[in-house]
Amino acid sequence: MIIQLVENIEPQELENIRNKVHEIDYEVTDVRTSSNHYLICIGKKEFDIRNIGNLNGVKDIHRVSDSYKLVSRKWKVDPTVIDLGDGVQIREGDFTLIAGPCAVENEHQIELIVDHLVKNNIKIIRGGVYKPRSSPYTFRGLGMEGLKMFYKVSKSRGIKIITEVMEVAQIEPMYEYIDIYQVGTRNSQNFNLLGELGKIDKPVLIKRGMSGSIDELLQSAEYIFSSGNEKLILCERGIRTFENAYRNTLDLNAVPILKEKSHLPVVVDPSHGIGLREHVETMALAAVMAGADGVIVEIHEKPEEALSDSQQTLNFDESYKLAEKLRKVFELRKNL
Ligand code: PEP
Ligand code: MN
Repeated sequence: MIIQLVENIEPQELENIRNKVHEIDYEVTDVRTSSNHYLICIGKKEFDIRNIGNLNGVKDIHRVSDSYKLVSRKWKVDPTVIDLGDGVQIREGDFTLIAGPCAVENEHQIELIVDHLVKNNIKIIRGGVYKPRSSPYTFRGLGMEGLKMFYKVSKSRGIKIITEVMEVAQIEPMYEYIDIYQVGTRNSQNFNLLGELGKIDKPVLIKRGMSGSIDELLQSAEYIFSSGNEKLILCERGIRTFENAYRNTLDLNAVPILKEKSHLPVVVDPSHGIGLREHVETMALAAVMAGADGVIVEIHEKPEEALSDSQQTLNFDESYKLAEKLRKVFELRKNL
């Protein structure tokens, strides 16, 4: 059960609600975000929900039987809007293209990519400065110095930044230089990291674990929300299956299922999802038709020279064409 409390609830009213919940043997977790205050109540007993719903201080009350509650659409039908300021939003009813290199490599590269984004009206850049790489002998990112440069160049052109955070100690130093934290597939169930991201007031895009179920992704998002941050975006990026004709199996089934189960925006990453440059566009367009609220793709001025994920990275011409087609396909979807 989720109880949403009124703003500025009186301590006495809160105490009273807690006592009533304890009377029916439910455990209570207090969740405060920057805009709301909730009580998550877990228990088994049958009870008349009106006895709690009628109490002073209760704004809204819902039974939610899923293992995830706050991210569930069962209590919040209205889609969550992620507002990045300056008119940039990620939301249902709109379509967001996020593009940028797999890894931030140098200032010249970022200038060229930012320039390309500005020309194509793309408002959010991606790019890792901490790269989780399967081999320790490959390029692992420029770290904080790279992030400061990434910020300086992007900010000066009005472009928002999403970048991956790999550990708790990075959260705070990164904070002022980014607009969205990305939790990568490998950290999708790093519950310490998720809990700490719940304590900050900045959007988080959480990717599905490469061997994670849809429910596990939602429970990971619930970790962040229940720790206090409701600015969340879900990302389908492909899972590992027996198929090896491509890098991952992009599970587009996840899109309508996530949209049905959760009020959070859903973004698809076709670059990691298929891992083959020549098919990224097709899967990005398919993601639109599946109902995604956005896609995140890897681009580079010279993909064949990219220091990571070169094989799945689009060049500027391909990126331009993709942006055009995404707009057309999104219009088509809206008018179906
Ligand atoms: C990335 O976005 O470059 C990345 C490492 O993604 P994932 O966590 O999905 O592999
Ligand atoms: Mn990558």
